[in-house]
Amino acid sequence: MCAPESTPPLDFIRQIISDDLKAGKNEGRVMTRFPPEPNGYLHIGHAKSICLNFGVAQEFGGVCNLRFDDTNPTKEEEEYVQSIQADVRWLGFDWGERLYFASDYFEELYQCALHLIKDGKAYVDDLSAEEIREYRGTLTQPGKDSPYRTRPAAENLDLFERMRAGEFPDGARVLRAKIDMASPNLNLRDPVLYRILHAEHHRTGDKWCIYPMYDYAHPISDAQEGITHSICTLEFEDHRPLYDWTLDNLPVPYRPYQYEFARLNLSYTVMSKRKLLQLVNEGLVRGWDDPRMPTLSGMRRRGYTPEAVRNFCDKIGVGRRENIVDLALLEYCVREDLNRRAPRVMGVLRPLKVVIENYPEGQVEELDAVNNPEDPSLGTRKVPFARELYIEEEDFLEEPPKKFFRLAPGREVRLRYAYFLKCVGVVKDDTGKVVELRCTYDPETKGGQAPDGRKVKATLHWVAAAQAVTAEVRLYDRLFTQPAPGEGHEGDFRADLNPNSLEVLQNCRLEPSLAAARPGDFFQFERLGYFCVDAKDSTPAAPVFNRTVTLKDPWAKIQQKGKR
Ligand code: ATP
Ligand code: MG
Repeated sequence: MCAPESTPPLDFIRQIISDDLKAGKNEGRVMTRFPPEPNGYLHIGHAKSICLNFGVAQEFGGVCNLRFDDTNPTKEEEEYVQSIQADVRWLGFDWGERLYFASDYFEELYQCALHLIKDGKAYVDDLSAEEIREYRGTLTQPGKDSPYRTRPAAENLDLFERMRAGEFPDGARVLRAKIDMASPNLNLRDPVLYRILHAEHHRTGDKWCIYPMYDYAHPISDAQEGITHSICTLEFEDHRPLYDWTLDNLPVPYRPYQYEFARLNLSYTVMSKRKLLQLVNEGLVRGWDDPRMPTLSGMRRRGYTPEAVRNFCDKIGVGRRENIVDLALLEYCVREDLNRRAPRVMGVLRPLKVVIENYPEGQVEELDAVNNPEDPSLGTRKVPFARELYIEEEDFLEEPPKKFFRLAPGREVRLRYAYFLKCVGVVKDDTGKVVELRCTYDPETKGGQAPDGRKVKATLHWVAAAQAVTAEVRLYDRLFTQPAPGEGHEGDFRADLNPNSLEVLQNCRLEPSLAAARPGDFFQFERLGYFCVDAKDSTPAAPVFNRTVTLKDPWAKIQQKGKR
């Protein structure tokens, strides 16, 4: 008897939403939001949050808003707003008409502040930032009330209005919530709600010189939009009481609730936007979309597919326990997707010339090559075969060690989709380096089989020399050499940068079908890995390919070991 098909158990977020729907909460609505701050490009950690927020909305018949949390004018830029939208779309999600900016709510946020002041729940504090820190106390010691805490509401109102009017310099005063300076939760010790910042905002220009803090703006923005489940990462758990306090003390149009999940951490990767910005600004990578970056734009340029990234997010799941995910799992997901979909082609990265002495000069044969053995419906294509070919430099050794089965003097191998080839001589340059192989082929072995049944131990990829496309190929390795970059260097992750993370090969020779490849197209170069056409630097006259990932799969090995 077959076991009944089991549905995987819901993660805790989906369980909560499912229970809420069953209980008839939120009038049966589900509305989530993805709230990036436009101060950098999105990274693979954001992908986890995007897949979760947009994913649950889709699964439960709800909607997900894209909301820019743009409350800090000093670090935010329009470039980031654009890149974030492009990246969310690329991942395959759509916010429809529901594109919002926290800055759209600046007036409402201001009105809410007036409300709190009138209610005696917020006050203008003249202490300096440093004094506020001192007064806050510690985890073991309660804080002290500010001398300005008891200011009458009328005075607070007057001062706050004048803060808005621009009467005071940056840092002169702040608006604080009046909660509890002795609370065991430091976030409730009269948190700052507004600060003075005479700074140009990317959307509101110089209209405002006071800006709300995230912890204050976020719950109100959620309420404005009617968010039902405000999902964020665990570091906000201790902020939840403030989220609740804000909404419980204001006449908001809707009452959302916050839920926290564990953020994604990846080995060999830094993910904080501050660190990624540092890599960009210090020229340690070639921009936010450098294919070595863990940004979505970098991964896209590297050739990672949205399907692979979504599948990865699915596999890692959603929980409440902090952990570090192996980068190899992400690479596994990329391989798995590309293996299914990438057309196979032949390309030689480090070419070594082969002259087939018994092949007629000037003759070119078109041989059939399989496009994708995983998908026979994709058929075959023609590859030219001629007297002069290139093979991979490392597929030949003049003095082969015992376990080297590829080409060597006097030895025979198979050329993929073609013939048996035998090396009968080598040509060297002045330095003794082998620069050309003299070979013969066996016309009886067309298609790769010998009628006399003799075997060869290796099959090599190759391209016809005269017909080949010359291309630049960029090979990538991990950006960091250590699983936890910076750990052994007091956090200076730059000390663990991999000096060999990029290798550029200028003279690669690819089969002629690749002349038609377009930016973003992906392929498997047989025996070498998955590659894509670089979307930025490649031109038809000077094609550039990125290696997305090698063919080797350390993750599969790790899993097998686990099973043994
Ligand atoms: P960083 O710490 O990398 O600078 P951030 O949290 O400041 O990122 P935001 O723009 O505020 O970046 O993030 C938008 C959303 O993405 C937030 O809800 C945040 O919780 C979520 N997010 C950010 N990093 C991760 C991560 N590594 N894993 C899961 N979700 C994340
Ligand atoms: Mg943040």
